Amino acid sequence: MSHRQKKCVVIVFGDGDLCPRCHQPTRIFEHREIGKKQRRQPFYYSRWFRCMNASCQTTLIMPERFRVWNCSDDKRASLERWMVKHNEQRKVERETERKVEAGELVLWGDTWDDEAAQVMCPESAEPNERPPWE
Ligand SMILES: [Zn+2]
Repeated sequence: MSHRQKKCVVIVFGDGDLCPRCHQPTRIFEHREIGKKQRRQPFYYSRWFRCMNASCQTTLIMPERFRVWNCSDDKRASLERWMVKHNEQRKVERETERKVEAGELVLWGDTWDDEAAQVMCPESAEPNERPPWE
């Protein structure tokens, strides 16, 4: 491979885990080398998957087993608490999606006012929330 083609990530041979959303095969990626950028972060992923299904909304899958920690145990514990909280939120979102797809739950009724919409979706008003290390 020439120098011009050098990229900071490489595709690993074989398939990754099936995409959690569409259950299609994924590609495996990893960093070509672990540099300053990765070491500056509290953690990085040694490997991750990318869903190759163009119509799927899930693009990157970053399994916990590939997470590598760079920080102190205290910081790690607090970050893990933060991530658990956010995974909880995603679980609720997925469950809601499933129910909507199954026709069990109507999300937006035409006759509902804004207040009712907020009650249905209490956690969704923070799209700009950043991880605490940024
Ligand atoms: Zn997918």
